[in-house]
Amino acid sequence: MFRTKLLARLGLVFLGFLLGCKSPDTAPPPNILLFFVDDLGWQDTSVPFWNQKTPLNQRYHTPNMERLSAMGVKFTNAYSTPVCSPSRISLMTGMNAARHRVTNWTLQPDILQPMETNHPNLEFPMWNVNGLATQEGIPHAALATPLPQLLKESGYTTLHVGKGHFGALGYPSANPEHIGFDINIAGHAAGAPSSYLGLDNFGNGNPKQTIWAVPGLEAYHGKDIFLTEALTQETLKSLQPIVDQKQPFFLYFSLYGVHAPLMADQRFIDRYQAANLDPEEAKYASMIESMDHALGRLLDFINENGIAEHTIVLFMSDNGGLSAVARGGEKHTHNAPLKSGKGSIYEGGIRVPMLAYWPGLTSSNTSNDQPIIIEDFFPTLLEMAAIKTPKTIQKIDGKSFVGLLKNETPSSERPLFWHYPNAWGPKGPGIGSYSAVRKGDWKLIYFHEDQRFELYNLALDIGEEENRSLDDQEKTLELAQLLTDHLKSTNAQMPRLKRTGEQVPHPIDAISSGF
Ligand code: CA
Repeated sequence: MFRTKLLARLGLVFLGFLLGCKSPDTAPPPNILLFFVDDLGWQDTSVPFWNQKTPLNQRYHTPNMERLSAMGVKFTNAYSTPVCSPSRISLMTGMNAARHRVTNWTLQPDILQPMETNHPNLEFPMWNVNGLATQEGIPHAALATPLPQLLKESGYTTLHVGKGHFGALGYPSANPEHIGFDINIAGHAAGAPSSYLGLDNFGNGNPKQTIWAVPGLEAYHGKDIFLTEALTQETLKSLQPIVDQKQPFFLYFSLYGVHAPLMADQRFIDRYQAANLDPEEAKYASMIESMDHALGRLLDFINENGIAEHTIVLFMSDNGGLSAVARGGEKHTHNAPLKSGKGSIYEGGIRVPMLAYWPGLTSSNTSNDQPIIIEDFFPTLLEMAAIKTPKTIQKIDGKSFVGLLKNETPSSERPLFWHYPNAWGPKGPGIGSYSAVRKGDWKLIYFHEDQRFELYNLALDIGEEENRSLDDQEKTLELAQLLTDHLKSTNAQMPRLKRTGEQVPHPIDAISSGF
């Protein structure tokens, strides 16, 4: 009897082998949609990420973010870096910015930009201005095995849509196809479009805008269509045959919106004009609703194609909301109750809206207040794809948040780190050269220019108004040591003081010379 069963089982295995089938218990990996918005602030949504609904939550209309939030988990303490490229390189490599050294935004190859070379007091390091590299021999670049390449090697079809911004002009990683994406729709070196309008050919044909002209959407040139909508239509067209063939996919849907230039999506502007919003703010609100509409289209597509039970959806932004330039109304207030905005180390620059849905694993309509940071997406997505022992060139700093998706409580408070030895351009509160750490409710900021410390208890003071660094010297010391250890262990670059030619001291050394 036993022998007969064994023979039957061996026969089935052999038949399966002949047919090239996987064994029945090997489920195909889930599809992964990462919906990645550019410059979307923590309050740029009708989903409340704070403990109360704010006036900004009431201003903006994002019904599809509400829908995704109701489906899964809302992360209320999710962080990116203060500007575009560092977040994108951390996402694609799992490295903290201090380690990968693409600490500022990339575009021009091989050189520092005038805003850095012309700084009155600081001489900035030669950071990795050329962005990401997947092979040795590329100067001033972060060498790494990128996420899409690992997913592709494990059987995923990988799609890149929208803003790339991984490498400087002329270097391989400027093209997303060179970092492991099978398909690239409209991504290149630049971190913004010169125009969102099809009627402007998205900037193509304007000789002054060559660098910023969006590539690859020629079919929409001359048409009355907003860039976000053109990207959505192209995505669905590319995705359909992949879904029809039941091929697992990683869709990195990386919108150019809501980054400047602020331009109205006419489909959504009326509501905001009728509300008498400042004209620039009305445009901005229409761009947010346009983004949200694209999210709805993708969620609908997933439902209509019967793959909802097999598709993970993640929603994230690459930095805080723009507030220092180009916006209507008072500067540095557009992320209230958070302080300041994009480019700043205050919460308005780095805390972002994040949502996650993993069918069968996340609970609907839940909220998680554990701090996570952009480099955590790298190990998380590998875990989602069941890639257990990825071979990477780089050391990974990120930690998988799959446990948090299951609502598990972490065993200890994990510190998160930011490092920006750079100048962004625009000025404002907390914008500039700095390093910072958050652990538990506490956040310590170290400003390089004057070696000043600011310490905040975010649970009590989300607006970072009361600097506790002198009153809580013990906490300041503890976090300064933690931050110093991180900067040393990642071999982080520090600026120099032009006055003395000396390197800005590590935080703990700045304290030892007295508070
Ligand atoms: Ca950005």
